Amino acid sequence: MDFNDSAEEAAFRAEVRAWLQQNASDYTEPLALRQGDPRIAEMGRSWQKQKAKGGFAAISWPVEAGGRGASPIEEVIFAEEEGRYHVPVGPFVGIGINLAVPTIRAHGTPEQIEKFARPTLLGEILWCQLFSEPGAGSDLAAVRTRATRDGDDWLVNGQKVWTSWAHTADWGIMLARTDPEQAKHKGLSFFLVDMRSAGIDVRPIRSISGESEFNEVFLTDVRIPDSQRLGAVGDGWKVAMTTLMNERASAADQSQSLPDVESLLAALGEQGRAANTRQLASLYAREQGLKYFGLRQLTRLSQGGNPDPISVMSKLVYANLLQDVSALGLDALGLPGAFAGRENHEAKKFQYGYQWSAALRIAGGADEILRNQIAERVLGLPGEIRSDKGVPFSQLPVGR
Ligand SMILES: Cc1cc2nc3c(=O)[nH]c(=O)nc-3n(C[C@H](O)[C@H](O)[C@H](O)COP(=O)(O)OP(=O)(O)OC[C@H]3O[C@@H](n4cnc5c(N)ncnc54)[C@H](O)[C@@H]3O)c2cc1C
Repeated sequence: MDFNDSAEEAAFRAEVRAWLQQNASDYTEPLALRQGDPRIAEMGRSWQKQKAKGGFAAISWPVEAGGRGASPIEEVIFAEEEGRYHVPVGPFVGIGINLAVPTIRAHGTPEQIEKFARPTLLGEILWCQLFSEPGAGSDLAAVRTRATRDGDDWLVNGQKVWTSWAHTADWGIMLARTDPEQAKHKGLSFFLVDMRSAGIDVRPIRSISGESEFNEVFLTDVRIPDSQRLGAVGDGWKVAMTTLMNERASAADQSQSLPDVESLLAALGEQGRAANTRQLASLYAREQGLKYFGLRQLTRLSQGGNPDPISVMSKLVYANLLQDVSALGLDALGLPGAFAGRENHEAKKFQYGYQWSAALRIAGGADEILRNQIAERVLGLPGEIRSDKGVPFSQLPVGR
C-alpha cells in the first residue's frame, strides 16, 4: 500500500525493507510448526529481541518508554513490510506488547512500568490474558475468581478459560473479584500474576484444528503480593477496559498466513473467477472498504485523536470477510482443499483462514456484542436492559 507514501514515509519504508532483508532471511518460508507449539513462542521472543535491537519493536511508543517515538502510520508501514515474511509474530508476543504493557503504562506505578515495560519489549517477558471464565465471557464483569486480602498478599482461587498461550507465558494480566458485596462492575480488581506461582495449573484445550493454542487455568490459593495489583482496589473494570480497547484495536491485524481476495483470485483461476464474478466483486468491495476505513482511523490517530467506538467495526467486518473469502477458496479447491496436507500451502491458507475466522468472530468481543456496541455507542439506540445494575454481585444468580 505504498502508492501514497509521503517522502518521509517512503524513506522509512526503504529503511525497513533493507533491515528486513538483512534480518528476516530465515523466515521466507511458512513455519513448519503447529500453532500452540512452545517453540514458536521461543522464536517469537528472539524475533522480538532482534526487532528491539534494530529499533523496530515498539515504533509508536514514546522514546522514554523504549519505543521509537514515530507515528502510527510508520507502525503500519513496518507491519506491512514485516507481513511479507513468515516471521514468528502472534499473541504469544502480542498480548504483552498490545495489551499488557499499554494497560500497565496507563494504570501502573513507576515501579511496575520499570519492571515490565522494557523486558516485555525485549521479548524477555511473555504474557497471557486471564479474563474469561466459564460463566464470564461476553458478560466479562461476571468473573467469579476470588481474590481475598491476606496480609501484604492476595489469595486467589478460581478458574479461567480460553487463555491463549498461558502454557508459554511468564506473566498474566488477571481480573478477579475482590468484593462480592459491591455491584458487579465495582467489586473487581486487576492483578499481574507470575505464571510460575505455586497453585497455578495450566491445562491445554484442543481446538478444531487439532492444535492447542489456548488453555484452562486453575488457580488454587495462589499468592499475589499487593505490589502486583494494577490500579486501585475496586477499579479493575476500569483497568480492564483499557486492555479491551487495545485488544479490539489490534484484533483485526492481518497476517501473511491468512487469505485475502488477491489469493482467492489466484486460487480460483480464470474459470472460477468468471463463475463467481458477483461474489468476488462484493468481497473486493468489502475488503477495500475495510482498508480505507482503517486508513481513516489511522489518520485520526496520527492527528492525536483517540480510537472512537466505531473502530470495533474493523474486527466485525474483517472476521466475517475472512470467513467468506476462505469458504469460497475452499469451495474452489474442492476435495483437495479440505484434505490438503501441510505441504499444500495454498490450501492450508484457506483451511486456516476458515478455522481462524470462526474463532475471530468470538475472540475480543463476539459479533453480537460488537453490534450492540455500535447500536448503543455509535447510533445512539437505547441500551440493553440491565436488571443487575446496582445489585450486589453476591445477590445475583451468577454470584451465589
Ligand atoms: C481464539 C480465542 C482466543 C481467546 N483468548 C482469550 C484469552 O487469551 N484470554 C481470555 O481471557 N479470553 C480469551 N478468549 C475468550 C473470549 O474473550 C470469549 O470467548 C468471548 O468474550 C465470548 O465469551 P464466551 O465464549 O463465554 O461466549 P458467550 O458470552 O457465552 O456468548 C455466546 C454467544 O451468545 C452471544 N451473546 C452473549 N451475550 C449477548 C448479548 N448481551 N446480546 C446478544 N448476544 C449475546 C454471543 O455473541 C455469542 O454468540 C478467547 C476466545 C477465542 C475464540
